[in-house]
Amino acid sequence: MNLLLNPGPVTLTTRVRQALLRPDLCHREPEFSELQSSIRDDLLRVYDLKPADWTAVLLTGSGTAAVEAMLTSLVTADGRVLILDNGVYGARMAKMATAYGIDHDTVTCGWGEALDIDAIKKQLQIRQYTHIALVQHETTTGRLNDLAAVAGLAAEHRAELLIDGVSSFAAEAIEFNDWPVAACAATANKCLHGVPGISFVITRKQALATGATRSVYLDLNTYETQQVAGGTPFTQSVQCCYALAEALTEFFDEGGWQARRSLYRQRMALVRDGLQSQGVEPLLADSACSCVLNAFQLPAGVTYTRLHDSLKAAGFIIYAGQGELASSIFRIAVMGALADSDLQRLVEEVGGILSRRS
Ligand SMILES: *Cc1c(COP(=O)(O)O)cnc(C)c1O
Repeated sequence: MNLLLNPGPVTLTTRVRQALLRPDLCHREPEFSELQSSIRDDLLRVYDLKPADWTAVLLTGSGTAAVEAMLTSLVTADGRVLILDNGVYGARMAKMATAYGIDHDTVTCGWGEALDIDAIKKQLQIRQYTHIALVQHETTTGRLNDLAAVAGLAAEHRAELLIDGVSSFAAEAIEFNDWPVAACAATANKCLHGVPGISFVITRKQALATGATRSVYLDLNTYETQQVAGGTPFTQSVQCCYALAEALTEFFDEGGWQARRSLYRQRMALVRDGLQSQGVEPLLADSACSCVLNAFQLPAGVTYTRLHDSLKAAGFIIYAGQGELASSIFRIAVMGALADSDLQRLVEEVGGILSRRS
């Protein structure tokens, strides 16, 4: 069996995998209703959010479905979004806004670069925005964007944040109450260690009340109204819900998001230090990176394909760079069921591959 070091789906723990085998269930039966409600409650508990102010909406679909539901449901017809783009996922939100005809501007920075706070400031002075949409952890490069700085600007300019937290929810700090957050989109199969198929949006109730309807399947209001009443508008992926419920129980058993962040940081230090000792350099400084995923420079004389295939033969799945970074970097994520000894073996394997370079 391969160990997954890609940014989701993750290597499952035995208890989450076993949860997939629970009894067949109709999504219109009270047992599913209970399962769905317990997941929605638990998702709010991840960041201790009050059910009076916040609601968790569950969707069957990958992380992108949740991001698209968030953007299309929460920006009013006369709203305007400032989208911050320093990687694939920021750019994807701009594509969504274009596809749905949502009024927006984009502040674009180079992939790997930090968000340009001065450029954002300038843009906010030029035009009024109802929302600022940004990615917390830009998985393209492993960069952890400075949400606190953007939140400050948003508060100053009376804009609300729409956060793509798909690869950071449950492992990085998100100040839902202190920042002007309208919503955060995320998924079951990254830092929460569930299986792919279920994603969700944590939304401030007030933001839902003033939203818009641009889509039938992705309308958060439809989901929320029915989920609060114990139902679901469409068939949910029942088995994915079983797995997510178990993954959430395991997450709380292990100490919550801070514990998960510590665990990932410890694993990532092992990988970074180990690879550096083999002459493999990280793309970004440690302080700029998420705990979840780091990018590394492909060492001279080794193609990505060669590195990937050799590591796969040894039982590890690493991840390629996207777009212009495809030929220069590779990425390693440390989510899921991994042991320190696995990561030590990974480092040794990389050392072996490099020593066989011609
Ligand atoms: C993984 C990811 C997504 C969603 O990808 P899906 O393939 O749709 O699950 C969105 N944003 C970020 C930052 C991600 O890392």
